[in-house]
Amino acid sequence: MSKEQLHEIVSEMREELQGLSDYIYENPELGLNEYKSSQAHVDLLRKHGFDVEYPYLGFDTAFKATFDSGKEGPTVAYLSEYDALPGIGHGCGHNMLGTVDTGAGIALSKVVGEVGGRVVVLGTPAEETDGVKVDMANVDTFDDVDVALCTHPSDQNLMSNVSLAMEALEFEFFGKTAHAAGAPWEGINALDAAINMFNMVNAGRQQLRPDARVHGIIVEGGVAANIIPEYTRVQFYVRSLDINYLQKVKDMVIRSAEAASSAAGTTMKFRNFEKTYYNMITNQKLSDTYNANAADLGIEMIDAGEDLSGSIDMGNVSQVVPSIHSYYEITDGVPTAGHTVEFREATRTEFGYKAMMRTVEILARTGFDVITKPELLAEINEEFNKIEKVN
Ligand SMILES: [Zn+2]
Ligand SMILES: [Zn+2]
Repeated sequence: MSKEQLHEIVSEMREELQGLSDYIYENPELGLNEYKSSQAHVDLLRKHGFDVEYPYLGFDTAFKATFDSGKEGPTVAYLSEYDALPGIGHGCGHNMLGTVDTGAGIALSKVVGEVGGRVVVLGTPAEETDGVKVDMANVDTFDDVDVALCTHPSDQNLMSNVSLAMEALEFEFFGKTAHAAGAPWEGINALDAAINMFNMVNAGRQQLRPDARVHGIIVEGGVAANIIPEYTRVQFYVRSLDINYLQKVKDMVIRSAEAASSAAGTTMKFRNFEKTYYNMITNQKLSDTYNANAADLGIEMIDAGEDLSGSIDMGNVSQVVPSIHSYYEITDGVPTAGHTVEFREATRTEFGYKAMMRTVEILARTGFDVITKPELLAEINEEFNKIEKVN
């Protein structure tokens, strides 16, 4: 058995995989409501002999699909996403994203009978909002997994790299209403607290590292200009390249809220309004293996350095198991931002389908390498054990 044989196996799946991507494109569903999309993935995986837990971890639209060769060997996990965006449907291309990862799992399952090991495909809802990969990383989902792979459609072929750790903070300020002209001295102005907070955060930025990001809005700022506001609510996202430094950024924002509240005479409460995403730690050895397989199929992966500025829930996975999250081009040389109609449409082009099939093969070949080269997996683990993870 050689990994070149995966080419034939993958080629035969074109119709099925294109069908899956198109079906999900036509049925866009928001995070945690991906009923049709997850069902379509599960149906295909079951058809190809996977054992599927669905729903999984208490999430209706999550699943864990396993194909066990019954022989000794490593476990390779592929992570599928299939949530859409409000208004523009699959503007992030998750119809194709999930199809590629599920497709790679199916392709690899066709050879493990011979080479050993296990293949896991995880259906991971709500990447755009409240990513379920976070919950999976917090429990035992990856305990029996050796490597985790996910790859995202894009307008460039980008190596797996970094992503920003991110925390979502909401602050509420409680004051007292008064007539703003008749008796303002009787009021306690909760809007002052909110505005003071923004000014303090803006001053505090000067002492932050360049990779830190702090951005917020006033969600509720009062109800009428002639009433001293008794209640205001603000939301901030704080981000940085590592979760430990993020704590410092977060502390600055919380101190600003406390001081602003104290100055205005209000009381203050805060909470996390979404899950915390950890920074992505790329396993370089695993990434090198992926990049080499891409090169074998004629794709030169680009090293974008630490330019990527978003946050992904794969970050949490990368803290518990050696992981990669790369990008593959589907836009035929046309620079196209994600979360647009143009990007969505690129998932329905011949160029996009070809990139999709090639990426399935690259992922499957990478899994094949992990299973068949014990020395490679040893190096992957050695690197993973050395990295600085969440404190
Ligand atoms: Zn996405
Ligand atoms: Zn997105």
